[in-house]
Amino acid sequence: MSTEVDVVVVGLGPGGESVATELAEAGLEVVGIDKHLVGGECPYYACIPTKMMLRGADALAEGRRIPALAGTSAVTSDWTPVAARIADEATDHWNDQVAVDRLQDAGVTFVRGAGRLDGARTVVVGDQTFTARRGVVLNTGTAPAVPPIDGLAGTPYWTNRDAARLTEVPGSLIVVGGGPVGAELAQAFSRFGVQVTVVEAAPRILGPEEPEASKLIGDAFGREGLQVLADVTISEITYADGHFSVALDDQTLTADKLLVSAGRRPNLADLGLDTVGLDPESKSLETDERLRVADGLWAVGDITGKGAYTHMSMYQAAIVVRDILDQDGPWADYRAVPRVTFTDPEVGSVGMSEKQARDAGLSIRVGVTDLATSARGWIHQEGNDGFIKLIEDADRGVLVGACVAGPAGGEILSALVVAVHGEVPTAKLASMIYAYPTFHRAIEEAVKALGA
Ligand SMILES: Cc1cc2nc3c(=O)[nH]c(=O)nc-3n(C[C@H](O)[C@H](O)[C@H](O)COP(=O)(O)OP(=O)(O)OC[C@H]3O[C@@H](n4cnc5c(N)ncnc54)[C@H](O)[C@@H]3O)c2cc1C
Repeated sequence: MSTEVDVVVVGLGPGGESVATELAEAGLEVVGIDKHLVGGECPYYACIPTKMMLRGADALAEGRRIPALAGTSAVTSDWTPVAARIADEATDHWNDQVAVDRLQDAGVTFVRGAGRLDGARTVVVGDQTFTARRGVVLNTGTAPAVPPIDGLAGTPYWTNRDAARLTEVPGSLIVVGGGPVGAELAQAFSRFGVQVTVVEAAPRILGPEEPEASKLIGDAFGREGLQVLADVTISEITYADGHFSVALDDQTLTADKLLVSAGRRPNLADLGLDTVGLDPESKSLETDERLRVADGLWAVGDITGKGAYTHMSMYQAAIVVRDILDQDGPWADYRAVPRVTFTDPEVGSVGMSEKQARDAGLSIRVGVTDLATSARGWIHQEGNDGFIKLIEDADRGVLVGACVAGPAGGEILSALVVAVHGEVPTAKLASMIYAYPTFHRAIEEAVKALGA
């Protein structure tokens, strides 16, 4: 027996939760299915807990900057308030009852369990089968990827999910993977007194970002006593007597704990994709501008491969809602996707990197300015490292990308997201007024450096 409804949402990450809620509020019969916690990775194990860790870590760093600026300080770190905030405020001790109630109050029928497609517009969860008149929305997200390194699988390694539940920090930590997640967690723990080593296989940490950003963060980490080993291969990882050993070509590292932050694996394998003619082994689902994968099938979030960010999941969710409610666009436009790595200095980027723009065959001009020597940077002094880098499509006279690294880099970025999204002519950016002495005023210098 199958129950007929309007829409079934499989996976209730930020986007799925939003789709289910909005469609139910619009009067549709909606079933929302999640096998774990409503809200997904972001509130329980990812964005929010890690940003709470970094808030504490940054407070410690600012305290340590007092002697250069404002007197004396003696800073003693304690993880207790961080763990308490994450458990009490962020995750309600990893209990999603509030989110479930919110969903049900909106009119969604919630089912806890693993959903699986069983042919077009049909989803099986446990012993229930749902048929969706309008269709099925997938938002199953990703799980931590664990690289096939000899020995690793048999060790008690951590992922971001273990890090979020920590009640005390270890003495030493090896972080395998220097992407945004690895970099953020490495700096957070290091500032809480943990001896941290980041091991990265690629030639540099924060690989997809501008090389200047990787260097800036690498140098900042070095000054804080955080070791970064890039361009290295791990041959084996072992665990014995309470210690991890990581064998590299020319040395063996040891630490109390080991965190794997080596990318994400899409939750697509057990979703019954084969029953609708799709490949369960795919890394992402191909979607059109309305996020349709097939007739009556939509996907949002990390599994679309358009950027694993909560804001992407929410952006796509709004489009799916419009499409299902037969409303007009705008449909998906990925030219101005912002992303922020919340290290200190913070790295915010939008659109294309210089390399991506060159690879796309654009005729570009690049403008770079130093934040430390801007008026505000000079006033700020301790912790003022950073830069603004602009990538202009010289033929059209508009920015196609930007990177801001520095204090509040992700906030400074906002003006440049508007510029890339709105295709604001560079000449206009050169003629506007920038408040003095703000960090964002350095955008004017970066525009001048384009030669505009
Ligand atoms: C450590 C870390 C820090 C991050 N920080 C940020 C940040 O600062 N800013 C930012 O924008 N992004 C950040 N991200 C990324 C962000 O967490 C994700 O992009 C975001 O959660 C959106 O993911 P999603 O919507 O694809 O689904 P997810 O959040 O992954 O949720 C998917 C849901 O689907 C459920 N599910 C999976 N399979 C099934 C099934 N078969 N049946 C039923 N339910 C299923 C899961 O239980 C889960 O609840 C971070 C990620 C990590 C790991």
